[in-house]
Amino acid sequence: MTSDAPRFQREAKKHLGQHFLHERGIIDKIVRAVDPKPGDRLVEIGPGQGAITFPLLDRHRELTVIEFDRDLIAPLTEAAKAHGELTIVHGDVLAVDFTALAAGMPSDDGKIRLVGNLPYNLSSPILFHALDHAAAIRDMHFMLQKEVVDRMAAEPGSKVYGRLSVMLQAYCRVTPLFKVPPGAFRPPPKVDSAVVRMVPRAPDEIGVKDGKRFANVVRAAFGQRRKTLRNALNGVADTALIEAAGLRPDARAEQIDVGGFVRLANLPHA
Ligand code: SAM
Repeated sequence: MTSDAPRFQREAKKHLGQHFLHERGIIDKIVRAVDPKPGDRLVEIGPGQGAITFPLLDRHRELTVIEFDRDLIAPLTEAAKAHGELTIVHGDVLAVDFTALAAGMPSDDGKIRLVGNLPYNLSSPILFHALDHAAAIRDMHFMLQKEVVDRMAAEPGSKVYGRLSVMLQAYCRVTPLFKVPPGAFRPPPKVDSAVVRMVPRAPDEIGVKDGKRFANVVRAAFGQRRKTLRNALNGVADTALIEAAGLRPDARAEQIDVGGFVRLANLPHA
């Protein structure tokens, strides 16, 4: 940066989950993983001081970012001039309608690609918000707490297999890419991080018939994960329904694969 470059030097805001990436090797790995191609419409969540933003802009020339912190908007705007065309949406990502955003950014397949080193306090709400708009998203590359990535990608039988694993895997292919140590950020978070790729499944690949019913079944099953399915699903699915789905009523939620939950939720119920 030149001496008259806008200054980002400011305290990180803890309540906004600000941990700024500074390790070049990690930033390069993220850009390589995203691998933007001409015509792609990239949207970054939480650009912060531009650690990923500017390398992506250098590579792709065009980028839309969504940032909540008003103090970052002017310096980002100023610094971006040297790199490419940056469109800044100032606001809460949870209030951004990705479907409308994609419609306003025509691309070959009409979809956007999401990237972000997410504020960790909002990771789950952001993931579920993205799922609500999955049809408008080609793929996502997110930095998250490693523990969250482990839960997202977990298989049945694993201690960390749960609601997040089933909900995300039903709608997306989830691939953990690489681990990132706390020292790659300023200030360093207390935990390890990891970058994950999620690719929403095509509509004919998603077996879920009724998203609301599926979410209710999965929530109930894991709400009481030490209980058997018969007990945990009391009021949501009875023993006959559980058996009709080919599942054992005395099994626990953590033993049921995504397909099992889909079968159960798809059965007609009272
Ligand atoms: N991308 C930058 C980097 O890697 O150094 C910053 C990442 S930092 C972990 C998370 C960013 O998300 C911060 O810039 C923070 O201000 C922003 N943020 C926090 N809450 C947000 C929200 N609700 N909507 C949009 N951005 C948010």
